[in-house]
Amino acid sequence: MPARKLFALLACTAVLTAQTNPLWHGQKTKNYLPEMTWPEVQDLLTRTDMVILPLTALEQHGPQLPIGTDFFTAAEEAKLIAQRTDVLVAPILFPGISPYHMEFPGTITMSSDTVQRVYFEAAQSLIAHGFRRFLLLNGHVGNTSVSRYIIDRINQETPAVAVELADAAAPYLPKSSTRETQFDRHAGVGETSGGLYLFPTLVDMSKAGPNSLELPEHLRKMMPDVIAHDPTATTVFLAEGLKPKATGKHTSTREMTSTGVWSERNTNEATAAQGRTQAENFVTAAVQFMERWKLARPLQPLAERQARTVQK
Ligand SMILES: [Zn+2]
Repeated sequence: MPARKLFALLACTAVLTAQTNPLWHGQKTKNYLPEMTWPEVQDLLTRTDMVILPLTALEQHGPQLPIGTDFFTAAEEAKLIAQRTDVLVAPILFPGISPYHMEFPGTITMSSDTVQRVYFEAAQSLIAHGFRRFLLLNGHVGNTSVSRYIIDRINQETPAVAVELADAAAPYLPKSSTRETQFDRHAGVGETSGGLYLFPTLVDMSKAGPNSLELPEHLRKMMPDVIAHDPTATTVFLAEGLKPKATGKHTSTREMTSTGVWSERNTNEATAAQGRTQAENFVTAAVQFMERWKLARPLQPLAERQARTVQK
């Protein structure tokens, strides 16, 4: 190609590129509500009445992971599930219940009452359109109680049925053969590995490194039993651990860690391969549960579902 023609072609491409937002790199994902049109939602409603609601958080995740880690983890896993079994994914809210991370800048926390109301009202809208089965995918341990409450409200107060997806999928997960020898939870090797697989461009491994924990003496003594999954030690440890500074328990993340990483491991050990195994095992187990539920409770015709909707 002559140089003049090549220059004209490049100039033309530059003009075309300049006409759209240079920051936009989004790709439309099938069945992801914010990116769908209403005719697509209407069409999906003829094939399914199932919705995954990711329950998420906006909270510090150490120096190497983004504040939105729990959102991205739950939303990306939900999207992967929805490519394998035809269901809607409806992200509703970024923040969740994170008061014990508040000493680290960027964390946003809400009351349980606010969070449950937002999700319940969102579920009511989806029920009005004909969705009838809700799968709550909780990406943040601090949301556990509120997740159960939302599920119970949907089951007790509406024509829809709701379940906790992690509980429902658990019997379908492969038995873990690796034995843990070190404590590794919030923003640790497991979660960083998940990030490296699910949202790799947002993980900064140059900031990963060693971590240590400062624990009240009696919790420090429980640690070997917690690592060995002793049920009593785990129950007591988690009831007391990760609580806001104002409770005086000395177990907020800032009081227990300098980095915000609740782990004794070096986060440099995280790998995308481990994250992939974790994510694929969960996605496969969730799909198996959902396919069985679809068989166990056949889809009612859409006209019937919409006619039965209780309008407020
Ligand atoms: Zn997290």
